[in-house]
Amino acid sequence: MDTRMNRRQWLKRTAAAATGLLMAREFIVCRRQSSFSRSFPEPEEIILLDNNESPYGMPPEAREAVLDALARANRYPHKKYSELAALIAEKEGLPEDHVLLGAGSTEVMNMAILSYGVKGEILTADPTYFDFIFYAEQARCQIQRVPVDERYELDMETMMGRVSKNTSLVYICNPNNPTGAIVNKDKLPAFCAEASKKALVVVDEAYHEYVEDEAYASMVGLVREGMNVAVTRTFSKIFGLAGLRVGYGMARPDILKNFERVQMNFASVAYPSLRAAIAAYGASAFTSLVKAKNEAARAYLERELERLGYPFIPSHANFSLFQVGRDSKEMAADLQRRGILVRPFDFAGKSWLRVSIGTEGEIQAFVSALEQVKPVSIS
Ligand code: PLP
Repeated sequence: MDTRMNRRQWLKRTAAAATGLLMAREFIVCRRQSSFSRSFPEPEEIILLDNNESPYGMPPEAREAVLDALARANRYPHKKYSELAALIAEKEGLPEDHVLLGAGSTEVMNMAILSYGVKGEILTADPTYFDFIFYAEQARCQIQRVPVDERYELDMETMMGRVSKNTSLVYICNPNNPTGAIVNKDKLPAFCAEASKKALVVVDEAYHEYVEDEAYASMVGLVREGMNVAVTRTFSKIFGLAGLRVGYGMARPDILKNFERVQMNFASVAYPSLRAAIAAYGASAFTSLVKAKNEAARAYLERELERLGYPFIPSHANFSLFQVGRDSKEMAADLQRRGILVRPFDFAGKSWLRVSIGTEGEIQAFVSALEQVKPVSIS
């Protein structure tokens, strides 16, 4: 048999492969809700303000730990799991069996969806963290979404009214992504206490370490009290380890057992990632500095948005959401042509852009790009 391809076969196969590739790219594009992954300038010319990553990287001791870990990366990382879980448990005043690590908090969140969300209905806010909705939809969950109120804060009263015997999972993102708003600590514990009588309440605290406001409180205290509540956190943000995929959930052991049943892998966090997370967790001087820089750059951005006439939602995290008086996707595309990536959103009948708080230099570049794109006219 002739194993060489004739020209027609070759063309056919190339076309099929190209279609597959395009489809795969299309999928990534849809999944990450960004239509701007194509026709970019070269990566080093792009300012990445679309994924709320830390622009400051990881603490130097975490970098050292990763390099050091490579020599033992042929071993499964069991021991490091318990070491990191023990550190987290100690800091949060929980027994060690109340902490479950995952490949990013997204993995833990996904476990909650697959073990609780699928059993009934998921109740959450609109808008909220896109990936949570994405995974819930992928799992074909029923999702009930309650629009944020006129101050763009989670409408806890309406949400409480929607908790029913069918609700199996409530997802609260605090601070909320993409709005950056927090739920007041006068409201959230009471909501969780009541809602958790009927459903598992998952509180996503991915941006916990950035929050300064007195009106904010972590819900980990409710986990300590033994409520039907799970809190998720991540090493992807202030600790600068997004690419190493480490996150965790805190909940009663019986809840975590249910999560583990749907976990894909018994050891989903890589050994170098665990070592980095252990080192980063103790690097408090570094994270304080990142927090201070984030606050300074965010304050600068908010002043500039005000000067340019773009209404914004005061943020408690490492991103800001502001209104644009035109099509959000077009505006994001305009900024992309100037080498800056941001995220477009549409809700409450308005168009918005979410910009991650980069370094002060990156935010300056963003502001000057904003000055060049079509002027705003917001009624
Ligand atoms: N939760 C929220 C609210 C987020 O915004 C993000 C990332 O942007 C995550 C979770 C993802 O975290 P991880 O990288 O730990 O999966």
